[in-house]
Amino acid sequence: MAQETMSFQAEVKQLLQLMIHSLYSNKEIFLRELISNASDAADRLRFEAIVDTGLYEDDPNLHIRISYDKAGRTIVVHDNGIGMSRDEAISHLGTIARSGTKEFFSKLSGDQQKDAALIGQFGVGFYSGFIVAERVTVESRRASLPADHGVRWESTGDGEFSIEQIKRIQRGTSITLYLRDSEDELLSSHRLKSIIQKYSDHISLPILMKKEEWDAEKSEIVIRDEDETINQACAIWTRSKSQISDEQYISFYEHLSHDHEAPLAWTHNRVEGRNEYIQLLYIPAHATFDMWNRSHRGGLKLYVKRVFIMDEAEQLLPNYLRFIKGVVDSNDLPLNVSREILQESHDVKTIRDGVTRRVLSMLEELASAADNKQKYTKFWCEFGQVFKEGLGEDFSNRERITKLLRFASTRSNSAEQSVSLDDYIARMKPEQTKIYYVTADSYRGACNSPHLEVFVKKDIEVLLLTDRVDEWMMSFLREFNGKPFASVARGDLDLGSLYNEEKHAQEKVCEDLKLLIDRMKDVLKEKAKDVRLTFRLTESPSCLVVDEGEMSGYLQRLLKAAGQKAPDFHPILEVNPEHALINRLSPAVTDFDDWCHFLFDQALLAEGGALDDPANFIRRTNMLLISSK
Ligand code: ADP
Ligand code: MG
Repeated sequence: MAQETMSFQAEVKQLLQLMIHSLYSNKEIFLRELISNASDAADRLRFEAIVDTGLYEDDPNLHIRISYDKAGRTIVVHDNGIGMSRDEAISHLGTIARSGTKEFFSKLSGDQQKDAALIGQFGVGFYSGFIVAERVTVESRRASLPADHGVRWESTGDGEFSIEQIKRIQRGTSITLYLRDSEDELLSSHRLKSIIQKYSDHISLPILMKKEEWDAEKSEIVIRDEDETINQACAIWTRSKSQISDEQYISFYEHLSHDHEAPLAWTHNRVEGRNEYIQLLYIPAHATFDMWNRSHRGGLKLYVKRVFIMDEAEQLLPNYLRFIKGVVDSNDLPLNVSREILQESHDVKTIRDGVTRRVLSMLEELASAADNKQKYTKFWCEFGQVFKEGLGEDFSNRERITKLLRFASTRSNSAEQSVSLDDYIARMKPEQTKIYYVTADSYRGACNSPHLEVFVKKDIEVLLLTDRVDEWMMSFLREFNGKPFASVARGDLDLGSLYNEEKHAQEKVCEDLKLLIDRMKDVLKEKAKDVRLTFRLTESPSCLVVDEGEMSGYLQRLLKAAGQKAPDFHPILEVNPEHALINRLSPAVTDFDDWCHFLFDQALLAEGGALDDPANFIRRTNMLLISSK
């Protein structure tokens, strides 16, 4: 078949432009990316060969070879992995298959370091060859295809590539980089070796180079016909902990996650007994750009007896730990395991439980060690919202999860969520029996909530919940250490014995204002389920509360915003008898109805609600202002 020319997908063109310019200071990563692809190709061959050993042909020793040619100014990365067919080369090397491409571009910051990390994360590694090469040639043959079904792909990286069928005896892929003029320093075995050792030491198959030695007679370096293995060539998780340095753990993490920021923590151990497996798990330092996508799978890399089986095996982790990266290598699962089998397997469930406990221990350690406090805060800031889902998902670990929660509170004086429930309980007033919280759509909204007034006055700490998942989470949190949770905006204000002294005086006030309250109820009967006096306010004239067991206004609004039907509960209007506005109010005044609506509407605004009829609110307010002068 003749040579054909094709166009890259528009995003690829954009990406190539960007990469060549923004990643230049980090150019060595091209080798890491190409080696990582070669290693993936070997993994895939091994995996497919489980059912068809013929795929090994007569070349069973999988390896990667790096060579260079000083005169021709080329570097070749060669592997005898799965290879590519013509169609695969066109689609894999001409498009970006991953979803979320747009999102990716919108995240680029122009900061080289950050963008380099993102590009790696996005998995567009192959194109990084163009950072150092003005032309890239890929020759490949897919395992099991006949020799005359090889393919040759070539591009100068400026919008088009050519594709051509060729004869190729060797299985697998050879990628030739024709270096740009300024890149000659890469043409040295010393330089290449050091890049490989820096970035690719953990690759589990051998990376070979030809040995070189100094020939004193000729006074030059000669390349010998003998191979040298540059890396450790043994899967890191199979080695014993004591022989692995932190750098090696971190570099393996980078390979695994395409994330160039060191992880916050990791754990590595071998589980023995009825179910044998090795786990190496990492907590990343930041969330990936697609963690909130519905299509984000998360999950661990699964190996069975050292053979790579699949990426993103989400069955190995509960959903609320989907940010964890790592490897599980099982001795018991069958090699031909599929996602469907994983779903049902009892062994997988045992592994998932084990992995979950391990992650929780790791988090507990981070949270408790004094010198790790900052790390835990970082963890919480990045992943807290996801982690909270665990309360609804993982009942067996609910207590451990609850202890790991962190909140903003009226004590912490910042939006940072750093107060644990243990901290809260330790600071409770002796007579206090409940853990108080308020939910709102923003930190400021929560801080300024009228419901907090009496708590501030009495110096009682209140947790401020402002994440979207919080309302939902609280439906699973009934109590902690025997102390029930109580929303400050729900039900009758019951401060228990914290409040006794004032009770008597209040009862008297209630009686005096009975007529006023009854008239207000009547005026507001379409809006408010009830109107009553309250002593929870000190500064505001009124606030809204919901009954025990009813949905809060905030949650109703969230549901409506999400396009779901929310039941229409009417709130209760509470008014503050000590406030001047209420003091002055009497059912006898002519604009009494307007006053009632005004008090209701401003209470709704104060908790972040939206008015049904804002124009009418403004009209009413103006009328009241005019008549009150
Ligand atoms: P990623 O590795 O994240 O998929 P890359 O841009 O690095 O993204 O590679 C794109 C695709 O090209 C790979 O997914 C793979 O299908 C194919 N590919 C790249 N290099 C090789 C190789 N050496 N052998 C077989 N396929 C390869
Ligand atoms: Mg890759």
